[in-house]
Amino acid sequence: MPRPLSPLWLACPSDLSKRVKTCIETAQADTSASVYVFFRADDVAVPGKNLDRLMDLFATKRVPLSLSVVPAWLTRPRWQQIRSLGRTAPLLWCWHQHGWRHKNHATTGKKQEFGPGRPSFIIKEDLIRGQQRLENLMGKEFDPIFTPPWNRCGHTTLELLKKLGYHAVSRNTGSRPSSPEGLPDFQVNVDLHTRKAVNPLEDWKCFFTELRQALSSGLCGIMIHHQQVAPYAGSGQMTRDRKFSICSGRPAAPSGKFLRNYERPLISIIFSSRH
Ligand SMILES: [Zn+2]
Repeated sequence: MPRPLSPLWLACPSDLSKRVKTCIETAQADTSASVYVFFRADDVAVPGKNLDRLMDLFATKRVPLSLSVVPAWLTRPRWQQIRSLGRTAPLLWCWHQHGWRHKNHATTGKKQEFGPGRPSFIIKEDLIRGQQRLENLMGKEFDPIFTPPWNRCGHTTLELLKKLGYHAVSRNTGSRPSSPEGLPDFQVNVDLHTRKAVNPLEDWKCFFTELRQALSSGLCGIMIHHQQVAPYAGSGQMTRDRKFSICSGRPAAPSGKFLRNYERPLISIIFSSRH
């Protein structure tokens, strides 16, 4: 069952594009280094209008999108349909693994599928099962990167990811425990659609603080949940496009040691004050 829309999106400011632009300009003024921006869309596996429009938007803007796919939800017909959505721009997509079945196994505290509460061999089984399913369906299009459901996982999972040859993990900003040496963690630090604050005016202030801080930090990871986007109708389409107006920022050529081959698809836009 999709969760309800975040109250934030029920009260969009009329000057949203301008405020996003100001955030970008502030971040550019704050730092002399490049600012890396990537977009990660979660809970992918079931084709539908929202996923169709999301991919169409990124394809139109020629901006890469990292899609975290729940292995147990994906079937061959679903994959064929989703893949066909992105056929006009196949190099933009980074298809990777989002847990195994997005099931909470934590008996206390926050939800986790790959938390510390289960034995190592069961965690390993679920990781391998998910990886094999995606490899089997996607072939070479699968990227061995792991986004744990709810952005959380335990130390055992992180060590297993490294041992099993995953290239990277992607969690929330400030996640603990730290990922081991050799397993980069591309942390998201801007949440578009799973915000729980009930006061939209206050939450817009928080959102812009979050975005400004993320951009100023040099690595801005924007988390998308396409299932929790308002239906497209009338002004809804405008709102949707404006939500992603950050896509119209000025991209620069990728450079520097940060970008190794497997990291490239994750990086959507690089802002640089040197340009
Ligand atoms: Zn998820």
